[in-house]
Amino acid sequence: MKPPPKAADRSGQAIILLLVVMVVALLAVLWNYDLHAIVSSKVRVGNAGDAAALAAARWQGITMNMVGELNLVQAAMILENPGAGIDEVSELRDRIALTGPLMGYLAAQSAAYLNLSASDERRISSYYGSRLAQRATLYMTQGGAVPEPYEGAWLDYGTLLMDIADAGMVVECANPKWFLFYDGSHILLDASFYNAVAARYWCWFELRGQGPLLDGYDGYTFWGPLPSFSQRPSVNSEFFGTDLERLESSLDVELANWSTSGSNAETTISLWNTLYEDAVQNKNIGRFTAEINAPFLFTGTYQWHFYEAQSWRMDNPWPTYDDDFPFREGWSVRPEFNYKGGADAAISTFIEAEHLTPGIHMDADSISWKAAAKPFGFLSVTNGTGNEEVRMPQYFGLVLPAFHQARLIPNDISSRPVGVSEPNWDEHIYEHLPLYIASGIDAIRGSGCWYCRQLVQWEDPEFRAAGAAWLDAHSGDCYRSSGGGGGGGGGGGASDRR
Ligand SMILES: [Zn+2]
Repeated sequence: MKPPPKAADRSGQAIILLLVVMVVALLAVLWNYDLHAIVSSKVRVGNAGDAAALAAARWQGITMNMVGELNLVQAAMILENPGAGIDEVSELRDRIALTGPLMGYLAAQSAAYLNLSASDERRISSYYGSRLAQRATLYMTQGGAVPEPYEGAWLDYGTLLMDIADAGMVVECANPKWFLFYDGSHILLDASFYNAVAARYWCWFELRGQGPLLDGYDGYTFWGPLPSFSQRPSVNSEFFGTDLERLESSLDVELANWSTSGSNAETTISLWNTLYEDAVQNKNIGRFTAEINAPFLFTGTYQWHFYEAQSWRMDNPWPTYDDDFPFREGWSVRPEFNYKGGADAAISTFIEAEHLTPGIHMDADSISWKAAAKPFGFLSVTNGTGNEEVRMPQYFGLVLPAFHQARLIPNDISSRPVGVSEPNWDEHIYEHLPLYIASGIDAIRGSGCWYCRQLVQWEDPEFRAAGAAWLDAHSGDCYRSSGGGGGGGGGGGASDRR
């Protein structure tokens, strides 16, 4: 016969049980707290990012309106006296085109900070600030390799960048347009390659016709050189720049170059009406003087600021074929807004996630958000028959005040580089890749960059062999998803990184 358990044993078991219950309850409370903290942080970080993108886009609009107004001032000066010196007005436009968007960069930080809590602010990384400070130092000391748009421009530019970095950064410009950029394509400049390596998405190699790479790769020299650099017009800021260009030319010539739609005579009349009305009504130029000097305005050679033609193309409408964004099938876009290019502002932001629960690993180390916004507006022009018409801001090519508002736009249709989902992308392609191409994986092994880690993975022969073997067996299962763009794809550990 078994003796009954002693009272002391029973109480010992109860204490253990009680301890277990208490530990579980404590974990639940902490877990709940984490969850709540993360969810509410996510909302605040999202609001911060949206507000920042809108602030930057609004300043893009302000910048172009100011440049446009100074084009109008110049037109009035020429209508009053065709021999008048316009150098100072032109330089003022240069200054605004370069520094106006940086006011937007600063405003974007303030807008973001206003949306964050004190505990969020403690978890802001210093990464953005230190990167921008590096760029600032480059311009303050060496002035960069690119010619200045006006004398002393790089010192102004570097000083302003340093001010932004010093003020504290929580938001980064995600669509910078570097003065010097790769002019051409290379597989290592394609973010989807790294995503495919990270996800072991072997179908990417099959669908891109890069299957042989998995078998044939025999070391870093296999990649071939990176494309050479090209140079963008330095009248624009690299961050949130508005894609303008300064041309020394006549309005007649530039109108003829620009007009792809509508007759040139028609646009000349409309532009004349616009410039003449503004000079007479807003700048008090005499009607008679203005009419006499009209030919000089159109045929004389002066410096003007124009929209950069490739970026601001008018025959490049928003995509409407897709099922979802940006505009549903059958939805109509006002013609004056229906161009995809030109200035837009894409941002990225992140803060470190806060973890209280011991031993429980949340799937994210940081809370991040991406957003994009764009300035919108239109011109009201008087055509040859005296009727008012609404036109795209870049209708004449010449920059004129036209922007009225800024709106959020989907990230996918912004000028944010495609497929870039991890930080360090620009640092990777401009700083790490040249080292790697020159001397191999050891040169970048310690960089800590996510993209470099994928290259380290790629260098492993077993990794590539696994991919080649999988494709040998399953390449027939790879298919292109029908909805445009490369996503989807069959099995094989495929995962959509977006
Ligand atoms: Zn890297």
